[in-house]
Amino acid sequence: MWYFDSPHVIFGEEALSYLAELKGRRAFVITDRTIVRLGLAQLVIDQLTAAGLAYTLFDEVEPEPSLQMIQHCAGILEQHHPDWIIGLGGGSCLDAAKAAWLLYENPGIDPASVNPFDQYTLRDKAKLIAIPTTSGTGSEATWYAVLTDTVEQRKIGIGTRGLLPDYAIIDPALVMSLPPATTADTGLDALTQSIESYQSTWRNDFSDALCLHAVRLIFTYLPRVYAAGTDREAREHMHNAAAIGGIGFGNSQATLAHCMGHALGVLFHIPHGRAVALFLPYTIEFTVNGGGSRYADIAQALSLPTDNEATGAANLVAAIRDLERQLRQPLTLRELGIDRPAFEQALPELVARAETDTQIATSLRVPDSGDLRRLFEYAFDGKGIDF
Ligand code: NAD
Repeated sequence: MWYFDSPHVIFGEEALSYLAELKGRRAFVITDRTIVRLGLAQLVIDQLTAAGLAYTLFDEVEPEPSLQMIQHCAGILEQHHPDWIIGLGGGSCLDAAKAAWLLYENPGIDPASVNPFDQYTLRDKAKLIAIPTTSGTGSEATWYAVLTDTVEQRKIGIGTRGLLPDYAIIDPALVMSLPPATTADTGLDALTQSIESYQSTWRNDFSDALCLHAVRLIFTYLPRVYAAGTDREAREHMHNAAAIGGIGFGNSQATLAHCMGHALGVLFHIPHGRAVALFLPYTIEFTVNGGGSRYADIAQALSLPTDNEATGAANLVAAIRDLERQLRQPLTLRELGIDRPAFEQALPELVARAETDTQIATSLRVPDSGDLRRLFEYAFDGKGIDF
């Protein structure tokens, strides 16, 4: 027996106006100062006001949200007693909203102890609405949140099926202001998780369909939104693609590029999407060398030449690298600006962190420490994976 989970999705132009139909007392909007400064929080507040709801605005989320900030936010939630919690922003704000909601419903719980096998109280006090303003993480459609413990310098993944938002509002008007670099980083995050979730050991017929279509949309529309951020049609498809990939990923799992990217991101402070996407070509090569992968399916979906799995994978890797070049993304750790001594000093820690990442378990080919060390070394110089 297995499950397929998805939030109720409201998408397309004017999707935000769904908020004006909410019934309830008070909404609590969790966002960051950039979203407020851009006027996006006001768009949400206008709809809440039209619905006759009181609201509280919390705008203290920082990128890669910290455990400490979440605890602070949960304390404020407790004072206001909302019956709706709204995460508004990139993955950082959506994850912050999920985690603060969990603490609000389960006071005193240790977020680091949250796991998919235990039951938690959710929806006794409030429901959750996720409104993404980046087209990337798919957090609006997943039941995990990623926090950073700033004291111990580590990422904490919290996951339990109940954390899936009740509603995901996918309105393209909210991504028109995304700068090119964030468009690229977040769009490549969506691509990486869609490709990885198609190869994960937890993949299934439902996630497969979503991941493949997300990959097609991203290859078509990501170059367009990067070249012209005001291309509304492309923004809309790209925003949908991130959510579609998110539902696929939420019902499967990401794999090795995420393990390596998480390790790199936390040690060198690299944006999540840029870090995971950098490793994607290398981990595809490593995985196909182990046999049993399905990259030819993806290559075929993109109309790339695919005589067999090896050529399909090689052509997919070439297409990803071409896309990354178009988006001016680094293809190696050296291009990312990391120098050799800093890399060598961090290497044991990079390996240790990648090896203990939860998503190693869903990787089709699981590397040992020696493989991981070589994968990082090859990615430093940009060498093709030959093992
Ligand atoms: P982000 O949320 O950290 O946002 C990056 C920057 O973009 C921020 O400064 C933000 O203010 C700004 N921004 C957001 N929307 C904007 C807009 N419309 N216009 C202009 N600026 C805007 O970046 P992200 O990549 O969306 O999220 C990354 C976080 O998500 C990481 O913490 C990562 O671990 C997490 N994540 C979670 C999941 C999940 O399933 N829960 C999946 C992948 C990643």
